[in-house]
Amino acid sequence: MNPLTLRELDAIDVERLNGVGRRRRTALREVDVETVFDLLTYYPRRYVDRTAQAPISEAVIGSEITVVADVLSVSARRLRGGRRLVSVDVGDATGVLSAVFFNQAWRERQLTEGRTVALFGKVENYRGHKQMTNPVVDVLGDGAAADRTGKIVAIYPQSESAGIVTWDVANWVAEAQRRCSARGIADPLPDWLRDRLGLAERGQALADIHEPLSMSDRWAARNRLVFDELLRVQLLLRSQRLAREAHELGIAHKTAGNLIETFHRRLPLALTGAQRRAMADIDADLSTPRPMHRLLQGDVGSGKTLVALHALLIAVQNGHQGALMAPTEVLAEQHHIALRALLDGFEVPDEARLGGKRPLRLRLLSGSSSGTQRREVLVEVATGSADIVVGTHALLEESVRFDSLSVVVVDEQHRFGVSQRARLRESGRDDRRIPHLLVMTATPIPRTAAMTVYGDLDVSVLDELPPGRTPIATEWVRGPLAAESMWTEVRREMEAGRQAYVVCPLITESESLDARSAEQMHAELVAGSLAGLRVGLLHGRLPSADKEATMNRFRLGDLDALVATTVIEVGIDVPNATVMVVLSADRFGIAQLHQLRGRVGRGSHESTCYLVSDDDPTPIAVERLNALAATNDGFELAERDLELRGEGTLFDERQSGRNDLKLASLARDLTWVQAARDAAADLIAADGDLDTHPALADEIDWFASRRDPDYLQRS
Ligand code: ADP
Ligand code: MG
Repeated sequence: MNPLTLRELDAIDVERLNGVGRRRRTALREVDVETVFDLLTYYPRRYVDRTAQAPISEAVIGSEITVVADVLSVSARRLRGGRRLVSVDVGDATGVLSAVFFNQAWRERQLTEGRTVALFGKVENYRGHKQMTNPVVDVLGDGAAADRTGKIVAIYPQSESAGIVTWDVANWVAEAQRRCSARGIADPLPDWLRDRLGLAERGQALADIHEPLSMSDRWAARNRLVFDELLRVQLLLRSQRLAREAHELGIAHKTAGNLIETFHRRLPLALTGAQRRAMADIDADLSTPRPMHRLLQGDVGSGKTLVALHALLIAVQNGHQGALMAPTEVLAEQHHIALRALLDGFEVPDEARLGGKRPLRLRLLSGSSSGTQRREVLVEVATGSADIVVGTHALLEESVRFDSLSVVVVDEQHRFGVSQRARLRESGRDDRRIPHLLVMTATPIPRTAAMTVYGDLDVSVLDELPPGRTPIATEWVRGPLAAESMWTEVRREMEAGRQAYVVCPLITESESLDARSAEQMHAELVAGSLAGLRVGLLHGRLPSADKEATMNRFRLGDLDALVATTVIEVGIDVPNATVMVVLSADRFGIAQLHQLRGRVGRGSHESTCYLVSDDDPTPIAVERLNALAATNDGFELAERDLELRGEGTLFDERQSGRNDLKLASLARDLTWVQAARDAAADLIAADGDLDTHPALADEIDWFASRRDPDYLQRS
C-alpha cells in the first residue's frame, strides 16, 4: 500500500478511531475536527516541557517553573473589598504547593479535586509554604500525573463547552498515528526542495509536532508544517491565475491619445511618483488583451482617484465604457462629484456625426435616483452614450446592461466578491470578453500578508503622499473632563473658519455598548459645547436626499461641524476640515481609526485628530490608541495591528482562509511566506500543471475543493 496522502487522511472519519464514539464525534465537530486530517492538524497550543519539570520539593523560591501535580483541594472565599479568592492545593509525590487566583471565580469549577494540572509561575514563599499567584494553568486530565513524565507534553486547545480536554486529544492523536504507521504518510515535496530548505519529512513532522522528543524537533516539525500550509496557498493561487490567464480574453487598449493627454495637461497639480508608477502599471495591463486584475493599495489621501480616472479614461478613449463602483451611496456620490469636476469640458468623438464631438458623459447610478432618471441612465449605459458610470452595487443589478464595458474600478475591495465579478462579465459586453479590473483599497496590508492574501492580484502601491500635506496631530483624550477642554479647542478652530467631523459609533442608543448615538450627541452639542455654530447630522438611516444635502452643505462650508456615524469613514474629501473627533474611540479598530483620521489633513491648515476614550479603556484599546498617536504611517499601523490582533484583521470572519493557516503566522513567518512563494514560482514555472509532481497536484486539487470558493479570489 502506498503511503497516505492528505486527501486520504481527510476522507477518514474520526469516528473510526478507537475511543471516539458518537458523542465524542459531535464534540469534535464543534472544534472543526471531523476527519483524521483535521485531527492530525489540530495542533498543540503549547507544550509543557516535563523533561525540565521540577518536583515540588525542588522548586526554588523566586524561580519561574512548571509544576505538574494533582489537585488536592479547592476553596473559594470573598475578600474584604469584594475580590474573590480561589485557593488550590496541588501535590506530586514530593510535596505540596498552593496556587491562589484573584477574581477568577471560575477556577473553582475548573480545578476540581483529582485533576492533573500543569502550573507555570513564580514560586513564592507564603508563611512558610510554596505558593504561586495567578499561575498559567493547563488542565491535563484526571489522575494523569504519573503518565508521560520526562516527556515534552503537548497541550491542545481545549473546549469547555464541547468537553474537549487535552488528554483525550493526545490519546486520539496517538491512536491516529498508530493507525497510519503501517502505511506511513506520503510526502509530496520533491527532494531537491526539501533539501534546499532543510525541511523535515512530512510524516516525521506530523509525529514530532504532537510528541516531540526535544524542543528542537518541535521547531523542525513546525517549520515543515508551516511551509506546507503556505505552499498550498501559493500553489493554488498561482495555478488559479494561470488557468484564468489561459481562458480569459479581454480587450487591448491604446493608452496614448487625445483624451488622456488632455486629462494630464489640465491637471492642476503634479502627480506623485507613486501615482505615475501606478498609471504606468495600468497602461501596461490595459494595452494587452489579458484582463487586468490589479490591486491599487494606497493610504487615505494618497490620490487613488486620479489613478482610477486615468484607467477609466483609457476605456473611453478607445470607444468603450468605464464603471466605478463604490461601497456606499455617500461614497458613490462623492466620487461622482469629484469626477465631474475633473472632467468638466471634456469631449469625445461623436459617433452620430463623423468628425464631430460631444461632451464626455458621466453618469451616477444610485439607489436614490428617481425612476425616470434611472431609466434614462440605463438607456444611456446600454446604448453607449454614457461613457463613465459611477454607482454602488446597483451597477450589478439585472437591469443594467452596458454597451461595451472595458474598465471596472472597484473602491474598497473587501465588499466585492467573485460572484459580482462574474455578474459584470455578463452585463458588461455581448462578446464574452472580460473587462479589466482595478481594485482600490486604503487598507494598508503588510507586505507579508499581501503576498498571501492577494497572491492572485498584481499590486501597485501608492507609497507616497501628495506634497503639501500637513501632518495630523493625534491626541488621545481620556474621559469626560479632558473632553471638555477639547471641545473648547474644537470651537476655537471653527471660529477661525475651519470645519470639524464628530464621529459616533452607533446610530441609536445601545446601553449594552455604552456608545453614544449620533442623534443624541448632535442634540447635546448643539445645546452645549458647540452652541451657536452650524452643526449637521449624518447617519445611515436618513433619507438619501437629506444625506446628500447635508454633505453638500458641509462641502460648501455652510456647516461648521458634521456629527456622523462611520458613514464618513471612506472617501470624503473636504480640505477645509481640520478637526476629527472620534467618540468612544476605544471601540474602533486601528484600521478604522486610521481611515477616519485620514478625512482631515487634506489642506494647508494644520489638523488634529482627537480620539476620545472612556476613562478606563481595555489594555488592548490602550495599545491601539497609543499606536495611532505614535504614527500616521498606515503601513506601520497595519503591522502593529497584525501584532495585536493576529490574522483576524486580514481575513473576513466568514472566510475559511483563516483555517488554511493553522500554524503559520503572517506576522511572524515572513521568511516562510517568501520561501513558499519562491518554491511555488519554481514549481509552476518549470511545469504549469505540475504534471511532473502528481502528488503535489493532487494535494492542491484536494485543498481547493475543501475551501470557500470566494476566498482569495475576493477582490
Ligand atoms: P484617496 O487615495 O484617499 O482616495 P484621493 O484620491 O481622494 O485620495 O485624493 C486625496 C486628495 O489629494 C484630493 O483632494 C486630491 O485632489 C488630492 N491629490 C491627489 N493627487 C495629488 C497630487 N499629486 N498632488 C496634490 N494633491 C493631490
Ligand atoms: Mg478615495
